[in-house]
Amino acid sequence: MSEAKDKSICPHCGEQMKKWASPVTATWGGEFLWICFNDNCGYYQRGWDHTFKKIGVKASYRHRYDPETGQEGPFPVNSPDAGKDGIIDG
Ligand SMILES: [Zn+2]
Repeated sequence: MSEAKDKSICPHCGEQMKKWASPVTATWGGEFLWICFNDNCGYYQRGWDHTFKKIGVKASYRHRYDPETGQEGPFPVNSPDAGKDGIIDG
């Protein structure tokens, strides 16, 4: 286990998260979120079951970190590919 507290690393699965920007915010330039797009992430995998049991909807969430505000939380998704078109490479 790494001892570095790198916020771009998902705390749930230890994978490097992806830079992500919504089609709207991307045009502002420079603003992005870190989102864990690892399909094997336990947080994301448990989310399907949890959300379905709780509200009866087939949906989940991925771990999200906003470097602007320092806020962490769930990024809701309704399919395995949801949000993937917002991934910024590099
Ligand atoms: Zn993860």
